[in-house]
Amino acid sequence: MRIILLGAPGAGKGTVAKLLTEFDGSVQISTGDILRSAVKEGTELGKKAKEYMNRGDLVPDALIMQIMEVRLQEPDCKKGFILDGFPRTIPQAEELKKLLDKLKIKMDFVANLDVPRDVILDRLTTRRTCSNSSCQEIYNIKSNPPANGGKCKKCGSPVVQRADETEEAISNRLETYNQKTAPLIGFYEKEGLLKNFLSLSSKDTVAEIKKALKG
Ligand code: ADP
Ligand code: ZN
Repeated sequence: MRIILLGAPGAGKGTVAKLLTEFDGSVQISTGDILRSAVKEGTELGKKAKEYMNRGDLVPDALIMQIMEVRLQEPDCKKGFILDGFPRTIPQAEELKKLLDKLKIKMDFVANLDVPRDVILDRLTTRRTCSNSSCQEIYNIKSNPPANGGKCKKCGSPVVQRADETEEAISNRLETYNQKTAPLIGFYEKEGLLKNFLSLSSKDTVAEIKKALKG
């Protein structure tokens, strides 16, 4: 499959993407995960991205496009890919369109995960993430807690609250989403690629996306 997941922070894009990779071997490409790994490893990219990320601001479009132009041409993308957290702005969507034309890749559709704001807020403040950059498993202290002592069930690393998950950074991320990312819904509607999913449970959303892929 070749799809884009669109939705506010906390809409469940990461969880849905992971479940979809198990379905047909398509790769999950999360710009957030790529950036967090770079910050952790202290690469040039990480140094440039860190301050923006901790504030809950977007990383500049040019930097994101450099990453994605390389990433989308890696061999594992041939089987299909699920874009999670990219594109995030109209300029990124326009650049992506040009890039896909150049690579002769056609998207199946854009899945917009629609989640009520109170649900989003509750999810973001209770979310925890595995600190191991090659794992990054997502937990929730209420609905899906880590193992005893706050350890990741998959790799045993400590599970932590992300630096951008303080209350201030969260409200900034939601504001940024409304201003910069929500306009992509209209963009992809015009392109004839948009499908909306009222997304309260990741499992149900995954089932609906699979159905839409077949239909
Ligand atoms: P969430 O969707 O929960 O906000 P992500 O993991 O997708 O989190 O992204 C975390 C941070 O990484 C964002 O707040 C932003 O600073 C940066 N980021 C990720 N993807 C992009 C992108 N496509 N364009 C610009 N910044 C991005
Ligand atoms: Zn882990």
